[in-house]
Amino acid sequence: MKIRVKYLYTNSEDGLMEDAVVEFGETIESVRPYEESEKVDEHFEHHVLMPSLVNAHTHVYSALARGIPLKSYNPRTFGEILEQLWWRLDRALTEDAVMMSAYVAGIESLMSGVTTVFDHHSSPGFVRGSLDVLKQVLVDTIGMRGAFAYETSDRDGEKVKREAIEENLRFYRENRSSKSRGFFGLHAPFTLSDETLSEIVKLVQKENIPVHVHVSEGTEDLEDARKKGSLPIKRLGPLLAPNSIIVHGVNLQREEFELLANKEVWLAFNPQSNMNNAVGLPNWELAKEHGVNVVLGNDGFGYNLIFDVRALVLSQKLKARATTAFGFDELKRIVFDNNYRLASSVFETKLGKIEKGHQADMVVVEYVPPTPITSENFMAHFFFGMCESWKPSRVFVGGKELLRDGRITVIDVEEVYRQAVKVSEKLWKRFDELL
Ligand SMILES: [Zn+2]
Repeated sequence: MKIRVKYLYTNSEDGLMEDAVVEFGETIESVRPYEESEKVDEHFEHHVLMPSLVNAHTHVYSALARGIPLKSYNPRTFGEILEQLWWRLDRALTEDAVMMSAYVAGIESLMSGVTTVFDHHSSPGFVRGSLDVLKQVLVDTIGMRGAFAYETSDRDGEKVKREAIEENLRFYRENRSSKSRGFFGLHAPFTLSDETLSEIVKLVQKENIPVHVHVSEGTEDLEDARKKGSLPIKRLGPLLAPNSIIVHGVNLQREEFELLANKEVWLAFNPQSNMNNAVGLPNWELAKEHGVNVVLGNDGFGYNLIFDVRALVLSQKLKARATTAFGFDELKRIVFDNNYRLASSVFETKLGKIEKGHQADMVVVEYVPPTPITSENFMAHFFFGMCESWKPSRVFVGGKELLRDGRITVIDVEEVYRQAVKVSEKLWKRFDELL
Protein backbone atom coordinates (compact mmCIF):
# COMPACT_ATOMS: atom_id res chain seq x y z
CA MET A 1 0.00 0.00 0.00
CA LYS A 2 1.21 3.48 -0.89
CA ILE A 3 -0.13 6.59 0.84
CA ARG A 4 0.63 10.18 -0.09
CA VAL A 5 0.23 12.55 2.81
CA LYS A 6 0.55 16.30 3.26
CA TYR A 7 2.56 16.06 6.49
CA LEU A 8 4.47 13.07 7.78
CA TYR A 9 5.89 13.02 11.30
CA THR A 10 8.48 10.23 11.25
CA ASN A 11 9.52 10.56 14.92
CA SER A 12 13.07 9.90 13.72
CA GLU A 13 15.87 12.10 12.40
CA ASP A 14 13.80 13.21 9.41
CA GLY A 15 11.31 14.80 11.78
CA LEU A 16 8.51 16.35 9.76
CA MET A 17 8.34 15.78 6.00
CA GLU A 18 6.01 17.66 3.71
CA ASP A 19 4.22 15.93 0.82
CA ALA A 20 5.66 12.48 1.35
CA VAL A 21 4.85 8.95 0.22
CA VAL A 22 4.84 6.04 2.66
CA GLU A 23 4.88 2.54 1.23
CA PHE A 24 4.11 -0.25 3.65
CA GLY A 25 3.08 -3.83 4.17
CA GLU A 26 3.19 -5.19 7.70
CA THR A 27 6.22 -2.97 8.18
CA ILE A 28 7.26 0.30 6.60
CA GLU A 29 8.97 -0.36 3.25
CA SER A 30 9.93 3.16 2.24
CA VAL A 31 9.43 6.81 3.05
CA ARG A 32 10.26 9.43 0.42
CA PRO A 33 9.23 12.81 -0.98
CA TYR A 34 6.34 12.62 -3.48
CA GLU A 35 7.30 12.89 -7.12
CA GLU A 36 4.93 14.08 -9.85
CA SER A 37 3.34 11.23 -11.80
CA GLU A 38 3.92 8.66 -9.02
CA LYS A 39 0.85 6.51 -8.52
CA VAL A 40 -0.43 6.13 -4.95
CA ASP A 41 -3.36 4.20 -3.45
CA GLU A 42 -4.62 7.12 -1.42
CA HIS A 43 -3.86 10.79 -1.10
CA PHE A 44 -4.44 12.59 2.20
CA GLU A 45 -4.39 16.35 1.87
CA HIS A 46 -4.74 18.36 5.08
CA HIS A 47 -3.64 15.36 7.12
CA VAL A 48 -0.72 14.37 9.30
CA LEU A 49 0.51 10.78 9.33
CA MET A 50 2.44 9.74 12.45
CA PRO A 51 3.09 6.70 14.67
CA SER A 52 0.01 5.56 16.62
CA LEU A 53 0.06 5.87 20.42
CA VAL A 54 1.04 3.54 23.27
CA ASN A 55 -0.82 3.59 26.60
CA ALA A 56 1.71 2.43 29.18
CA HIS A 57 -0.77 1.74 32.01
CA THR A 58 -4.51 1.26 31.85
CA HIS A 59 -7.39 -0.72 33.35
CA VAL A 60 -9.68 -2.21 30.74
CA TYR A 61 -11.96 -3.46 33.53
CA SER A 62 -13.02 0.07 34.47
CA ALA A 63 -14.81 0.61 31.13
CA LEU A 64 -18.29 -0.19 32.47
CA ALA A 65 -17.96 1.96 35.60
CA ARG A 66 -19.05 5.07 33.73
CA GLY A 67 -22.09 6.55 35.52
CA ILE A 68 -22.32 3.77 38.11
CA PRO A 69 -24.60 4.81 41.02
CA LEU A 70 -22.45 5.34 44.10
CA LYS A 71 -24.65 5.00 47.16
CA SER A 72 -22.92 6.11 50.38
CA TYR A 73 -19.73 6.99 48.48
CA ASN A 74 -17.76 9.38 50.65
CA PRO A 75 -14.04 8.54 50.51
CA ARG A 76 -11.71 10.62 52.69
CA THR A 77 -8.51 8.86 51.63
CA PHE A 78 -7.17 7.11 48.56
CA GLY A 79 -7.59 3.78 50.35
CA GLU A 80 -11.28 4.53 50.81
CA ILE A 81 -11.65 5.29 47.07
CA LEU A 82 -10.36 1.76 46.44
CA GLU A 83 -12.60 0.20 49.09
CA GLN A 84 -15.78 2.08 48.18
CA LEU A 85 -15.44 1.93 44.40
CA TRP A 86 -12.73 -0.08 42.63
CA TRP A 87 -12.45 -3.12 44.89
CA ARG A 88 -16.23 -3.36 44.92
CA LEU A 89 -16.39 -3.04 41.15
CA ASP A 90 -13.74 -5.67 40.46
CA ARG A 91 -15.48 -8.15 42.83
CA ALA A 92 -18.68 -7.68 40.81
CA LEU A 93 -17.00 -8.50 37.48
CA THR A 94 -18.03 -11.70 35.67
CA GLU A 95 -16.59 -13.15 32.48
CA ASP A 96 -19.28 -11.34 30.44
CA ALA A 97 -18.46 -8.02 32.09
CA VAL A 98 -14.73 -8.47 31.53
CA MET A 99 -15.34 -9.28 27.87
CA MET A 100 -17.62 -6.30 27.26
CA SER A 101 -15.19 -4.00 29.10
CA ALA A 102 -12.50 -5.17 26.70
CA TYR A 103 -14.64 -4.40 23.66
CA VAL A 104 -15.45 -0.89 24.90
CA ALA A 105 -11.87 -0.13 25.99
CA GLY A 106 -10.52 -1.49 22.70
CA ILE A 107 -12.91 0.54 20.58
CA GLU A 108 -12.27 3.76 22.49
CA SER A 109 -8.50 3.26 22.45
CA LEU A 110 -8.47 2.67 18.73
CA MET A 111 -10.80 5.59 17.98
CA SER A 112 -8.25 7.84 19.69
CA GLY A 113 -5.24 6.39 17.90
CA VAL A 114 -3.97 4.17 20.74
CA THR A 115 -2.90 0.82 19.26
CA THR A 116 -0.82 -0.68 22.09
CA VAL A 117 -2.01 -1.01 25.70
CA PHE A 118 -0.36 -2.21 28.90
CA ASP A 119 -3.33 -3.45 30.91
CA HIS A 120 -3.52 -4.13 34.65
CA HIS A 121 -6.47 -6.38 35.42
CA SER A 122 -8.50 -7.44 38.44
CA SER A 123 -11.66 -9.59 38.67
CA PRO A 124 -11.45 -11.75 41.84
CA GLY A 125 -14.63 -13.65 40.93
CA PHE A 126 -13.19 -14.61 37.54
CA VAL A 127 -9.42 -14.92 37.68
CA ARG A 128 -8.55 -18.05 35.65
CA GLY A 129 -8.62 -17.27 31.96
CA SER A 130 -9.42 -13.59 32.51
CA LEU A 131 -6.25 -12.44 30.72
CA ASP A 132 -7.14 -14.69 27.77
CA VAL A 133 -10.55 -12.99 27.46
CA LEU A 134 -8.88 -9.57 27.36
CA LYS A 135 -6.37 -10.76 24.79
CA GLN A 136 -8.99 -12.48 22.63
CA VAL A 137 -10.98 -9.26 22.34
CA LEU A 138 -8.24 -6.62 22.11
CA VAL A 139 -5.60 -8.53 20.16
CA ASP A 140 -7.29 -11.39 18.30
CA THR A 141 -10.60 -9.71 17.45
CA ILE A 142 -9.85 -5.97 17.29
CA GLY A 143 -6.22 -6.33 16.19
CA MET A 144 -4.33 -4.15 18.69
CA ARG A 145 -1.16 -5.01 20.61
CA GLY A 146 -1.65 -5.76 24.31
CA ALA A 147 0.41 -6.66 27.38
CA PHE A 148 -1.70 -8.09 30.19
CA ALA A 149 -1.21 -8.70 33.91
CA TYR A 150 -3.43 -9.76 36.81
CA GLU A 151 -3.06 -7.67 40.00
CA THR A 152 -1.93 -10.23 42.58
CA SER A 153 -2.83 -9.17 46.11
CA ASP A 154 -3.48 -10.55 49.59
CA ARG A 155 -6.65 -8.51 49.88
CA ASP A 156 -8.99 -11.15 48.40
CA GLY A 157 -7.70 -14.13 50.39
CA GLU A 158 -5.50 -17.13 49.70
CA LYS A 159 -7.56 -18.79 46.95
CA VAL A 160 -7.76 -15.71 44.74
CA LYS A 161 -4.08 -14.99 45.34
CA ARG A 162 -3.13 -18.52 44.20
CA GLU A 163 -5.28 -18.15 41.09
CA ALA A 164 -3.74 -14.75 40.34
CA ILE A 165 -0.19 -16.10 40.59
CA GLU A 166 -1.03 -19.01 38.30
CA GLU A 167 -2.87 -16.78 35.82
CA ASN A 168 0.12 -14.43 35.52
CA LEU A 169 2.62 -17.27 35.07
CA ARG A 170 0.50 -19.19 32.58
CA PHE A 171 -0.34 -16.14 30.47
CA TYR A 172 3.26 -14.92 30.46
CA ARG A 173 4.53 -18.31 29.24
CA GLU A 174 1.89 -18.61 26.52
CA ASN A 175 2.21 -15.12 25.05
CA ARG A 176 5.50 -14.24 23.40
CA SER A 177 4.38 -12.71 20.09
CA SER A 178 4.77 -9.20 18.70
CA LYS A 179 1.04 -8.74 19.41
CA SER A 180 0.55 -10.08 22.94
CA ARG A 181 2.72 -10.34 26.04
CA GLY A 182 2.37 -11.00 29.74
CA PHE A 183 3.69 -9.25 32.83
CA PHE A 184 3.53 -10.46 36.43
CA GLY A 185 0.87 -8.18 37.88
CA LEU A 186 0.91 -7.00 41.49
CA HIS A 187 -1.71 -4.68 42.97
CA ALA A 188 0.46 -2.48 45.22
CA PRO A 189 2.99 -3.06 48.03
CA PHE A 190 0.50 -2.23 50.83
CA THR A 191 -1.81 -5.10 49.86
CA LEU A 192 1.07 -7.60 49.62
CA SER A 193 2.62 -9.25 52.67
CA ASP A 194 6.36 -9.88 52.95
CA GLU A 195 5.62 -13.62 52.66
CA THR A 196 3.72 -13.19 49.40
CA LEU A 197 6.40 -10.90 47.98
CA SER A 198 9.19 -13.35 48.78
CA GLU A 199 7.24 -16.17 47.14
CA ILE A 200 6.75 -14.08 44.00
CA VAL A 201 10.41 -12.97 43.91
CA LYS A 202 11.45 -16.60 43.40
CA LEU A 203 8.93 -17.07 40.59
CA VAL A 204 9.75 -13.93 38.62
CA GLN A 205 13.53 -14.20 39.07
CA LYS A 206 13.53 -17.73 37.70
CA GLU A 207 12.04 -16.60 34.38
CA ASN A 208 13.07 -12.93 34.47
CA ILE A 209 9.41 -11.83 34.25
CA PRO A 210 8.79 -8.07 34.32
CA VAL A 211 6.26 -6.90 36.91
CA HIS A 212 3.50 -4.31 36.49
CA VAL A 213 2.68 -2.74 39.86
CA HIS A 214 1.11 0.36 41.42
CA VAL A 215 3.48 2.06 43.88
CA SER A 216 2.86 5.00 46.20
CA GLU A 217 -0.24 6.31 44.49
CA GLY A 218 -1.71 7.45 47.81
CA THR A 219 0.23 7.53 51.10
CA GLU A 220 -0.78 3.94 52.00
CA ASP A 221 2.30 2.23 50.51
CA LEU A 222 4.73 4.54 52.30
CA GLU A 223 2.94 4.29 55.66
CA ASP A 224 2.70 0.49 55.42
CA ALA A 225 6.35 0.10 54.39
CA ARG A 226 7.54 2.41 57.19
CA LYS A 227 5.67 0.24 59.71
CA LYS A 228 7.67 -2.67 58.33
CA GLY A 229 10.88 -0.62 58.66
CA SER A 230 11.27 -0.26 54.91
CA LEU A 231 10.21 1.75 51.85
CA PRO A 232 7.88 0.59 49.04
CA ILE A 233 10.64 0.41 46.40
CA LYS A 234 12.95 -1.38 48.86
CA ARG A 235 10.24 -4.00 49.44
CA LEU A 236 9.86 -4.50 45.69
CA GLY A 237 13.59 -4.29 44.87
CA PRO A 238 14.35 -7.93 44.01
CA LEU A 239 11.18 -8.14 41.91
CA LEU A 240 12.09 -5.42 39.45
CA ALA A 241 13.28 -7.35 36.40
CA PRO A 242 14.09 -5.30 33.27
CA ASN A 243 11.01 -3.70 31.67
CA SER A 244 9.02 -3.73 34.90
CA ILE A 245 6.42 -0.95 35.06
CA ILE A 246 6.09 0.98 38.32
CA VAL A 247 2.87 2.96 38.23
CA HIS A 248 2.26 6.43 39.78
CA GLY A 249 5.10 6.87 42.29
CA VAL A 250 3.43 10.02 43.64
CA ASN A 251 4.92 9.63 47.12
CA LEU A 252 8.29 8.11 46.21
CA GLN A 253 11.12 9.36 48.41
CA ARG A 254 14.50 10.60 47.15
CA GLU A 255 16.07 7.38 48.46
CA GLU A 256 13.65 5.36 46.32
CA PHE A 257 14.58 7.32 43.19
CA GLU A 258 18.21 6.50 44.03
CA LEU A 259 17.30 2.81 44.16
CA LEU A 260 15.61 3.07 40.75
CA ALA A 261 18.47 5.02 39.15
CA ASN A 262 20.38 2.10 37.72
CA LYS A 263 17.48 -0.15 36.90
CA GLU A 264 15.99 -0.79 33.46
CA VAL A 265 12.47 -0.11 34.71
CA TRP A 266 9.75 2.32 33.72
CA LEU A 267 7.83 4.77 35.89
CA ALA A 268 4.34 5.39 34.48
CA PHE A 269 2.79 8.81 35.09
CA ASN A 270 -1.04 9.03 34.95
CA PRO A 271 -1.79 12.73 35.51
CA GLN A 272 -5.58 12.77 34.98
CA SER A 273 -6.14 9.90 37.40
CA ASN A 274 -3.83 11.49 40.00
CA MET A 275 -5.72 14.76 39.78
CA ASN A 276 -9.11 13.03 39.88
CA ASN A 277 -8.14 11.06 43.00
CA ALA A 278 -6.51 14.18 44.47
CA VAL A 279 -3.40 12.20 45.47
CA GLY A 280 -0.81 14.69 44.21
CA LEU A 281 1.61 14.28 41.29
CA PRO A 282 4.84 12.33 40.78
CA ASN A 283 8.10 14.21 41.05
CA TRP A 284 9.42 14.76 37.51
CA GLU A 285 12.46 16.68 38.75
CA LEU A 286 13.65 13.74 40.86
CA ALA A 287 12.90 11.27 38.08
CA LYS A 288 14.95 13.35 35.65
CA GLU A 289 17.77 13.88 38.13
CA HIS A 290 18.10 10.12 38.67
CA GLY A 291 17.67 9.14 35.02
CA VAL A 292 14.48 7.20 35.73
CA ASN A 293 12.63 6.41 32.49
CA VAL A 294 9.16 7.93 32.62
CA VAL A 295 6.32 6.70 30.41
CA LEU A 296 2.72 7.87 30.08
CA GLY A 297 -0.38 5.85 30.93
CA ASN A 298 -3.92 6.87 31.82
CA ASP A 299 -4.92 4.44 34.61
CA GLY A 300 -8.19 3.59 32.84
CA PHE A 301 -9.39 7.19 33.06
CA GLY A 302 -11.23 6.79 29.77
CA TYR A 303 -9.11 5.44 26.92
CA ASN A 304 -8.22 8.56 24.95
CA LEU A 305 -4.58 9.13 25.86
CA ILE A 306 -4.54 12.60 24.28
CA PHE A 307 -6.20 14.04 27.39
CA ASP A 308 -3.32 12.69 29.49
CA VAL A 309 -0.81 14.11 27.01
CA ARG A 310 -2.20 17.55 27.74
CA ALA A 311 -2.62 16.91 31.45
CA LEU A 312 0.99 15.71 31.70
CA VAL A 313 2.42 19.00 30.53
CA LEU A 314 -0.03 21.24 32.36
CA SER A 315 0.01 19.39 35.68
CA GLN A 316 3.81 19.22 35.88
CA LYS A 317 4.13 22.93 35.13
CA LEU A 318 1.59 23.70 37.83
CA LYS A 319 3.24 21.36 40.34
CA ALA A 320 6.59 23.11 39.81
CA ARG A 321 4.94 26.53 39.53
CA ALA A 322 7.37 27.11 36.69
CA THR A 323 6.40 27.29 33.04
CA THR A 324 9.87 26.04 32.07
CA ALA A 325 9.63 22.95 34.32
CA PHE A 326 8.14 20.78 31.63
CA GLY A 327 8.45 21.62 27.96
CA PHE A 328 8.02 20.00 24.58
CA ASP A 329 11.39 18.23 24.84
CA GLU A 330 10.09 16.47 27.94
CA LEU A 331 6.76 15.69 26.27
CA LYS A 332 8.56 14.20 23.28
CA ARG A 333 10.92 12.20 25.47
CA ILE A 334 8.06 10.60 27.40
CA VAL A 335 5.28 10.12 24.84
CA PHE A 336 7.24 9.79 21.59
CA ASP A 337 10.46 8.19 22.80
CA ASN A 338 9.97 6.28 26.04
CA ASN A 339 6.47 4.87 25.42
CA TYR A 340 7.73 3.40 22.14
CA ARG A 341 11.01 2.18 23.67
CA LEU A 342 8.98 0.35 26.31
CA ALA A 343 6.63 -1.18 23.71
CA SER A 344 9.44 -2.08 21.29
CA SER A 345 11.40 -3.77 24.05
CA VAL A 346 8.44 -5.72 25.50
CA PHE A 347 6.97 -6.83 22.15
CA GLU A 348 10.45 -7.36 20.68
CA THR A 349 9.68 -5.47 17.50
CA LYS A 350 10.30 -1.98 16.14
CA LEU A 351 7.55 0.47 17.06
CA GLY A 352 7.17 4.23 17.08
CA LYS A 353 8.88 5.47 13.95
CA ILE A 354 7.75 5.84 10.36
CA GLU A 355 10.97 4.40 9.06
CA LYS A 356 11.94 1.38 6.97
CA GLY A 357 11.69 -1.85 8.95
CA HIS A 358 9.42 -0.47 11.67
CA GLN A 359 5.95 -1.89 12.21
CA ALA A 360 3.33 0.04 10.24
CA ASP A 361 1.43 1.12 13.39
CA MET A 362 0.24 4.52 12.24
CA VAL A 363 -2.45 7.11 12.61
CA VAL A 364 -3.71 9.64 10.06
CA VAL A 365 -5.20 12.79 11.58
CA GLU A 366 -6.78 15.75 9.82
CA TYR A 367 -4.95 18.98 10.65
CA VAL A 368 -4.59 22.25 8.79
CA PRO A 369 -1.81 24.28 10.41
CA PRO A 370 -2.74 27.96 10.63
CA THR A 371 0.94 28.90 11.13
CA PRO A 372 4.21 27.55 9.67
CA ILE A 373 4.89 23.95 10.73
CA THR A 374 8.42 22.50 10.83
CA SER A 375 10.37 19.66 12.43
CA GLU A 376 11.41 22.10 15.16
CA ASN A 377 7.93 23.23 16.15
CA PHE A 378 5.97 20.03 15.42
CA MET A 379 5.48 19.25 19.14
CA ALA A 380 3.90 22.69 19.65
CA HIS A 381 1.50 22.04 16.75
CA PHE A 382 0.75 18.61 18.19
CA PHE A 383 0.13 19.93 21.70
CA PHE A 384 -1.75 23.15 20.97
CA GLY A 385 -3.40 22.24 17.66
CA MET A 386 -3.71 18.54 16.86
CA CYS A 387 -4.66 17.59 20.44
CA GLU A 388 -7.42 20.22 20.27
CA SER A 389 -9.27 18.44 17.44
CA TRP A 390 -7.74 14.95 17.72
CA LYS A 391 -9.96 12.53 15.85
CA PRO A 392 -7.98 10.01 13.80
CA SER A 393 -9.46 9.24 10.41
CA ARG A 394 -7.27 6.18 9.77
CA VAL A 395 -5.54 3.77 12.14
CA PHE A 396 -3.21 0.95 11.08
CA VAL A 397 -1.61 -1.80 13.16
CA GLY A 398 1.06 -3.83 11.44
CA GLY A 399 -0.17 -2.36 8.15
CA LYS A 400 -3.72 -3.60 8.71
CA GLU A 401 -6.37 -0.89 8.58
CA LEU A 402 -8.50 -1.10 11.73
CA LEU A 403 -10.18 2.29 11.47
CA ARG A 404 -11.25 4.01 8.26
CA ASP A 405 -12.98 7.39 7.90
CA GLY A 406 -13.14 7.57 11.70
CA ARG A 407 -15.03 4.27 11.97
CA ILE A 408 -13.81 0.90 13.17
CA THR A 409 -13.84 -1.60 10.34
CA VAL A 410 -13.25 -4.85 12.20
CA ILE A 411 -16.29 -5.10 14.51
CA ASP A 412 -19.88 -3.85 14.76
CA VAL A 413 -19.46 -1.01 17.25
CA GLU A 414 -23.19 -0.25 17.65
CA GLU A 415 -23.93 -3.86 18.55
CA VAL A 416 -21.09 -3.85 21.10
CA TYR A 417 -22.50 -0.76 22.82
CA ARG A 418 -26.02 -2.25 22.92
CA GLN A 419 -24.63 -5.36 24.60
CA ALA A 420 -22.41 -3.29 26.90
CA VAL A 421 -25.40 -1.39 28.30
CA LYS A 422 -27.17 -4.67 29.12
CA VAL A 423 -24.08 -6.18 30.74
CA SER A 424 -23.49 -2.94 32.70
CA GLU A 425 -26.98 -3.02 34.19
CA LYS A 426 -26.30 -6.48 35.59
CA LEU A 427 -22.82 -5.47 36.76
CA TRP A 428 -24.16 -2.41 38.56
CA LYS A 429 -26.82 -4.52 40.29
CA ARG A 430 -24.13 -6.88 41.64
CA PHE A 431 -22.01 -3.85 42.64
CA ASP A 432 -24.97 -2.44 44.56
CA GLU A 433 -25.52 -5.71 46.40
CA LEU A 434 -21.89 -5.75 47.57
CA LEU A 435 -22.39 -2.64 49.71
ZN1 LIG B 1 -3.75 1.76 37.79
